[in-house]
Amino acid sequence: MDPHSHAEPERVRVTHVDLDLELDFGARSIRGGVRLDLERREPGAPLVLDAQGLAIERVLGADGSPRKFELGPEHDGLGGPLTIHLARADTSVRVEYGTTANADAVQWLEPGQTAGGKSPFLFTQGQATLTRTWIPLQDSPGVRVTYSARIRAPKGLTALMSAEQLGEDSEGAFRFRMNRPIPSYLIALACGDLAFRPISARCGIWAEPAMVERAHAEFEDTESMIRAAEDLFGPYRWGRYDVLVLPPAFPFGGMENPCLTFATPTVIAGDKSLVSLVAHELAHSWSGNLVTNATWRDFWLNEGFTVYFENRIMERVFGAERAVMEMQLARASVERDMANLEPWQTVLHLDLEGHHPDDGFSEVPYTKGALFLQAIEAVVGRARFDMFLRRWFDEHAFQSVTTAEFRRCLDEQLPEVAGRLDVDRWLDDPGMPPDAPNPRSPLLAAVDVELARWVATRSVDALGTAGWSTQEWLHFLEAANPALDARAMAELDRRFQLTESGNAEILCVWLRLAIQHGYAALDAALERFLTDVGRRKFLEPLYRELVKTEAGRKRALAIYAKARGRYHAVSRGTIDEVVGWKQ
Ligand SMILES: [Zn+2]
Repeated sequence: MDPHSHAEPERVRVTHVDLDLELDFGARSIRGGVRLDLERREPGAPLVLDAQGLAIERVLGADGSPRKFELGPEHDGLGGPLTIHLARADTSVRVEYGTTANADAVQWLEPGQTAGGKSPFLFTQGQATLTRTWIPLQDSPGVRVTYSARIRAPKGLTALMSAEQLGEDSEGAFRFRMNRPIPSYLIALACGDLAFRPISARCGIWAEPAMVERAHAEFEDTESMIRAAEDLFGPYRWGRYDVLVLPPAFPFGGMENPCLTFATPTVIAGDKSLVSLVAHELAHSWSGNLVTNATWRDFWLNEGFTVYFENRIMERVFGAERAVMEMQLARASVERDMANLEPWQTVLHLDLEGHHPDDGFSEVPYTKGALFLQAIEAVVGRARFDMFLRRWFDEHAFQSVTTAEFRRCLDEQLPEVAGRLDVDRWLDDPGMPPDAPNPRSPLLAAVDVELARWVATRSVDALGTAGWSTQEWLHFLEAANPALDARAMAELDRRFQLTESGNAEILCVWLRLAIQHGYAALDAALERFLTDVGRRKFLEPLYRELVKTEAGRKRALAIYAKARGRYHAVSRGTIDEVVGWKQ
């Protein structure tokens, strides 16, 4: 049972979703119909769907005649039930509807929010429970569906979906088909002025024309990553793997929409230093999309497996040094994150009773989950653990799984783990277990040596930063924090032009330190960053740092008042709380 869905799939289950929709940029509405194919498990039972903020016009049965329906009250940010009374012969229904201003999945961008500046842009973000805000369906990761779609878009704009592209029909509508059963949160749509550059026969980059060359150069190793992933954990089963680079308003780093990863442009640093994001989203083609968390309690099965797998891909393609460095930084980062979380939020197998899935979202399922798998690997050895993982993906392919099922497989196939690791503690207790792996990178240790010299001498000219990667800079800045003040920041800035950094990860940390230490030279850069970028991972720490002082809180509210309308609902939800926003 999924506490975050109103659907009753054990009575009547949706098996296929067929969309026929028109994108109305003027009215900011997606309108049309969806045909839902049904598996009638309990004769006479109604079909119950999830719906949130949708304007339902009418429902038709398989014979085309109207069916009675009721839209229940919405609550707790999870929408309400749409109950449809079926006739005996209904093997499908068609719901005609439109989205409203409350379609939190959908973000409509003004031309000014795009790289090209001339055309509007639209994208959807379904995870965790937002697909129900643009499609009435059974919005639970435990219900898998195939889907097909016909999308009418304004002339000159290209529509893309998380599916096989079938081209345009005679009326110029874009057609799509997803033949493999996926959870509803992976149904995704984007539309804008888009161009394509191939990387290999099965892989390429979509982006705005102004971005596509840079994006293509940044992600040119994607085919090598796919091969590394296949080598590790079995064939890629989704046909094409393309990456769509969205405008900076996209609220996440990436979203693993099948066949078409959605990605933030903030990972395009010019030096491939942030491409682990593509390794991550690609890894989801196994962990998450192929084998899916059955409920949002089991989210760590998606993300912990994926971070572990991402790191293995990075090791193969970019070497062990890079992989270790990234895990050391991730562990340091999750420890900082945990300091801001309530104990229940730091448990892997989350108890979401009474909580929205977003309340359980943090770095914990990602990094603590990956460290758990690394700890298991250390016990049984890499060869055996790889066999375990490969079997996990093969035996659960196109299924939704629970933490209990993982536990069962672990105890059965790798029984020695239970004697060597406290598995209960890993899964059910808050905080980081004492037997958590502690990745140690020699490159970052060398940064510590430079840092110690700088702290002792305070001479920026003596700092040996030649050849430092993004990861080394990030480590340096976080580790230098206790020794920083506004004057030291000004000196570092003069020497290394950190404020001018085109690298969003470095800039975000640098801006946070500037707020913390009152380095006012960055005020304009901070406002620009908070206005242009909608990625929650960057917004949250900056607003959090701002609201620590009364003056900062006023400033946060002033910037937010201007920027809020440019953020996706996912980011707004988080930042509303951080700054205490009242509508
Ligand atoms: Zn992920």
